[in-house]
Amino acid sequence: MKQPQTSIIAVDGYSSCGKSTFARLIARELNYTYIDSGAMYRAAALYFIENNLLLDGDPDHKNLQHSLERINIRFILNLQTGLQDTWLNGKNVESAIRGIEVSAIVSKISQISEVRQKMVGLQRKIGEQGGVVMDGRDIGTVVFPDARLKIFMTADTNVRARRRYKELTEKGLDVELKEIIENIRMRDYEDENRKESPLRKADDAILLDNSHMTIDKQMEWFRELWKKTCHEH
Ligand code: C5P
Repeated sequence: MKQPQTSIIAVDGYSSCGKSTFARLIARELNYTYIDSGAMYRAAALYFIENNLLLDGDPDHKNLQHSLERINIRFILNLQTGLQDTWLNGKNVESAIRGIEVSAIVSKISQISEVRQKMVGLQRKIGEQGGVVMDGRDIGTVVFPDARLKIFMTADTNVRARRRYKELTEKGLDVELKEIIENIRMRDYEDENRKESPLRKADDAILLDNSHMTIDKQMEWFRELWKKTCHEH
């Protein structure tokens, strides 16, 4: 039997179900490094935008390999926030990658096979250091199929939309709940139906439906699970 990769925890799941909050807290508790794999796809999308590599909103496949070679993504600890910021080619892009422009095209960028190969390579390299909690869509299925623990998160669409609505309106953004529900449905569909590494629960992943759970309850749930996991291996 293959040995699990001892200190990698994979957290996959649907958009807007609190993966990053949960994964970040787990990492803090275990003194692991939290890696947001979605931020890497977002940084690649930003590179395509900033370098005019989109043709009518779609990536230009002609010089793809050449462009990909020029994308250098790193995570650097921000001493003020205590979080890892995303850097693209020597520039801190943490806030730029969260903007609407990037969100609008990132799912197209993340469907490109060559982009995925590059990101998966980088993610595995980061994983070599061990002590990593990585969240995304394909971490337990493709990136680290031998991760020690795999968690797959989901929540009711309306609950996810209300959480997202609260988050955005608190930031002062003018959004409608209906529009958010539609966006979540669309992103779920795209993630689950893309050809390359579609979103799906790994057979050995543990399901966490947090529709009716506070973050404290989720952490209690995790502590129990982690105790069992450590006991088994
Ligand atoms: O997690 P987040 O929503 O920031 O991810 C941005 C985009 O990157 C998503 O739309 C998703 O399709 C893609 N992604 C991916 N594989 C991952 C992480 C994110 O395809 N491991």
